[in-house]
Amino acid sequence: METKLNVQGLEGIVENVTEATGADAIDGVQPQVVVEPETAEQVAEILKFARSEGVSVATRGGGTKQGWGNIPAAAEIVLSTERMNGIIEHEPGDQVVRVQAGAKFSYVQQSLFRANQMIALDPSSKLKEATVGGVVATNDSGPRRYKYNTTRDLIIGAKVVLADGTIAKSGGKVVKNVAGYDLGKLFTGSLGTLGVIVEANFRLHPLPEAARTVAVEVETPQQAKAAMMALWHSQVEASAIELHWGAEKKLVSALLESIPEGVEAKEEQAHVMLKSIGEVRSLNDEEYDELGPYPRPDGSGGEVVVKAALPPAELDGLIEVLTNATDRRGITANLRGHAATGIIFSGFSGNDEDALVEAVEEAREIIVRRGGSLVVREAPASFKRRVDAWGPAGDYMELTKRVKEKFDAAGTLNPGRFLGGI
Ligand SMILES: Cc1cc2nc3c(=O)[nH]c(=O)nc-3n(C[C@H](O)[C@H](O)[C@H](O)COP(=O)(O)OP(=O)(O)OC[C@H]3O[C@@H](n4cnc5c(N)ncnc54)[C@H](O)[C@@H]3O)c2cc1C
Repeated sequence: METKLNVQGLEGIVENVTEATGADAIDGVQPQVVVEPETAEQVAEILKFARSEGVSVATRGGGTKQGWGNIPAAAEIVLSTERMNGIIEHEPGDQVVRVQAGAKFSYVQQSLFRANQMIALDPSSKLKEATVGGVVATNDSGPRRYKYNTTRDLIIGAKVVLADGTIAKSGGKVVKNVAGYDLGKLFTGSLGTLGVIVEANFRLHPLPEAARTVAVEVETPQQAKAAMMALWHSQVEASAIELHWGAEKKLVSALLESIPEGVEAKEEQAHVMLKSIGEVRSLNDEEYDELGPYPRPDGSGGEVVVKAALPPAELDGLIEVLTNATDRRGITANLRGHAATGIIFSGFSGNDEDALVEAVEEAREIIVRRGGSLVVREAPASFKRRVDAWGPAGDYMELTKRVKEKFDAAGTLNPGRFLGGI
């Protein structure tokens, strides 16, 4: 049953309160209002208000991945970080940047480039709307995680607002009820279920002077694994080793970065090393853009996108599980992923939803049995009603529940979306 919202109560806290439209719906769940706070204090008041009124809050950055996770149990208020979008501090000498959560990641990255620095998460010109808060809350990462790890490793501090309105800063002021937690790391990947991130600090890396991508054509999952392993064990020190596996193209590519002369030497080595596996070539900019790191399957057009993970040494097995489950059912599978970190994104398309459900469940069962995971990333709401986005959480579930209990016992923030429906 819908809880009627006391809009005046919100208007007393924040200037920008607008009625939600169909475009604000999350997996078909229609919010009532969108609020755009400008300060951490306003965020705190909004959360206190929501808690006292018994309504829920869905935080939104760019809204590009609002549909990740399970269908929300409720979402009356959309809290948009749109108006908290500045770079607070960037001292190139310290290699650290402090930004507001609603700042567009692409904007922050562009301004860091001017100082020849970067947040070493794949800078992409294509995801213009993604915000820093959204990147942290989803702990998404791209190909470069092979060299630089993920957001959780690059975030070195955060300011967050907890569900009870406490403003907490990790590393700085110790707040009684959150002492002992590294909030930046804890909130990374929390999908807006623990609190609202209002600021994040990142460690920076120097921008590489030159880059080249070398790719080898492969025909079998075993060749893909051999190419990945050869690159892994070699001296070329790739920044990323990627798999592209579709009906038209099957490639393993390596991103090589360094000073210009260094890149040429690495390129030559990679060519020599890979030529026994298949045809090797250096990609031109256009081809590189087309292959990735973006786009990877994004669910547009009703595709079901899953993120599957197994140890990199089982790359061949992972490709086989995903393609066996789909081929037999006439589903087209487009695989794209971080070969050397064992993470493969697959876009499954086909008109028969029963077949899609069966394929995902079969692949999940085998992968989980082997110690990996399969998460549904993007899917139509009808599919999500049938298949849990996360799959079995195992021992992790108890811990996750306890953390949620500690931070948001009333279930105000993004209820229903996370593991085990919390
Ligand atoms: C370097 C990089 C690599 C990427 N790689 C890919 C990729 O390969 N494939 C792909 O599909 N996408 C990729 N993305 C997209 C990216 O991860 C998402 O688009 C982005 O994280 C979502 O940002 P958003 O602002 O649109 O968040 P939203 O879609 O608005 O929100 C996403 C989730 O985060 C929560 N949230 C948002 N802001 C906050 C906050 N301030 N506090 C608490 N919770 C919050 C929301 O409640 C929601 O659960 C990449 C982005 C970048 C920058």
